[in-house]
This record gives sequence, C-alpha cells and structure tokens, in this order.
Amino acid sequence: MPDGLMPAASPAFADPSLPPVRTDWTRDEIAALIALPFPELLFRAQSVHRARFDPTEVQISTLLSIKTGGCPEDCAYCPQSAMHEDGGVKASRLMAVDAVLKEARAARDAGAARFCMGAAWRSPKDHDLETVCAMVEGVKALGLESCVTLGMLDARQAQRLRDAGLDYYNHNLDTSPEHYGNIISTRTYQDRLDTLSNVRDAGINVCCGGIVGMGEDESDRAGLIASLASLPKHPESVPINLLVRVAGTPLAEAEAVDPIDFVRIIAAARIAMPASRVRLAAGREDMTDEAQTLCFLAGANSIFYGEKLLTTPNPEASRDARLLARLGMHTSLVQAS
Ligand code: SF4
Repeated sequence: MPDGLMPAASPAFADPSLPPVRTDWTRDEIAALIALPFPELLFRAQSVHRARFDPTEVQISTLLSIKTGGCPEDCAYCPQSAMHEDGGVKASRLMAVDAVLKEARAARDAGAARFCMGAAWRSPKDHDLETVCAMVEGVKALGLESCVTLGMLDARQAQRLRDAGLDYYNHNLDTSPEHYGNIISTRTYQDRLDTLSNVRDAGINVCCGGIVGMGEDESDRAGLIASLASLPKHPESVPINLLVRVAGTPLAEAEAVDPIDFVRIIAAARIAMPASRVRLAAGREDMTDEAQTLCFLAGANSIFYGEKLLTTPNPEASRDARLLARLGMHTSLVQAS
C-alpha cells in the first residue's frame, strides 16, 4: 500500500444535538449558498463538515468497469454510448466473476474500503444480473463494501441485488431537471428517480450525484444540488464529477469549468447534505493538487482510487498518496450508513 493511504480508524463525529438533516432544500436556497463570498461559503461548509466527520479523513473507493462500451443510451458526456462511435471505447462482454474478484482483491490490498463495479447497460438482463450477484457475494466475502451501477432497475431487480448483499447502488441524476433533456434523450429524469426509489425501497444505500461542466448555467448547478438534497432521504454517497471532455462525444468541446466554481458546488453539496459522503469523482486528473485541496476543505471526503475511472483517466495512486501525505490527511475504512 502506498504511503499516505494507510487506513486509520474513523472517529464517530455524529452528535445527537446536531440539527436534523433537511430534505426540503430549494433551488433558490442552494443558489444563494453558491453565490456567497468564497471565504464565507468555505467557513460554513467546514463547520458543517466538522460537525459530523473527521476533516482529515478521506474514504477510498475503487471502480472497475465490468462491461464496457456499446451502451444503447445517448448520454452526451459518455464515450461508452454506442451512439458516440468516435468516443474510442470498444465494446466488451461482461467480465468473468473470477477476473472481477482478482481486481477486487488487489483493490482491497491497496487500501480500498469499497469496490464499485460499473456495467454500460440501459438495464441489466436477468442472466447478467445473476452474474453480477455472484460478483457482489464474492466482493463481500473479501471484506469489502460492494457497489454496482448497472443502469435502470425495477423493484424486483433491486431486491435481487439486496438479497445478494449489495451495499450501494450508483445511479446519478447527472444535472438539473431542466438541463437534463440537453444531455440525455433515451430516458427521463423521472426514470432515474424511479430507479432510485426502487433501490431505496429494497434497503440498498444510494450513491447519486452529478456532473459539472456540461454547458449548464449556475441555476442548473443549484438545481442539481437541490434535486439531490430534496430526495426523500439523502444519498449516502454523493459523487460530484467534473466533466472529462472525451474526444468523439458531443461534449468534447464543452467550456472548461473555473475550479473555484467547482469548489463552490462541492461546498453547497456538503452544506445541503451534511451527513453524506461527498465524493470527488471523475475529472480529478484535470485538477491541480491545489484545486483538489480546496475541494477537501469544502467538505469532499471521498475519492476514487485507481488509474482508470470506468474509461477515463484517474490520478495515479502515488499522486493521491503524496497529496494526502502533504495535507496530513488519511484514509479510513468506511461504515455503511
Ligand atoms: S453514462 Fe451509463 S447509461 Fe449513459 S451512455 Fe454511458 S454507460 Fe450508458
């Protein structure tokens, strides 16, 4: 395991006297947070963060693409869509269970607490779901938390995954309801909310976030955070991605995001969803160490670790380790909340 990525105990910072978590956030309230003077915004985010978490601790997840490319959905940011044939991702079949568990073992030995498996499907077919369930059981047997992202799920599929022991299901809202139609046409925002509801009802923890930098305006960014923070129960994990502009996708030429604006979104997510893990997800490769540091100060407390994030590059593990060591921060084994 690289220096700086040693697991450490995670003190419980939850305090029963804390204000209850709100699920009635409005877009205007979030927009007002995002617009605060930067020092004020960061102070508020840090105060909220420190009330429930150790601010020096970062949770590490590892993500493996178990079935890559050839996806029938048309998400404008994604090189795995079969509709973006110039995106450069070759379609592959679902990996074998043994091969996935070999990767999971390596991730565990490198310090990961959670192993996430992603498949480029609209929704899983029954026989594929059984294979994924075997993977989940194997990952659990290694002592890791399990997470999968497989597209849309109905109630029966969600229950099957829960029965296999699945801890987390990832399904992102991506952006605001208003901007969504500019990014994806093959399924609706309501489809996404329905999958999230099926996952919740099955008793699986929810991992749900979005992407910044897809041509949205400030109101859309506030709308994304407000949508996440007004779900009936907040997602336990909230990945906030910075768009990776992949050649061959419709968003290849999207305007770059000001890193300070990105930090503002992280801070707003932290304040609105105080008990959730806010994850710096895709796009870290394009961020400086200083920008990532500001994200940690704004309340991000989870990262993906590994050289590839599904199909886009991720900072090398040694770079992560060096940065955490420079900051005096450490990783921890995460408890399912
Ligand atoms: S983001 Fe997921 S659903 Fe959308 S095209 Fe990519 S793999 Fe398919």
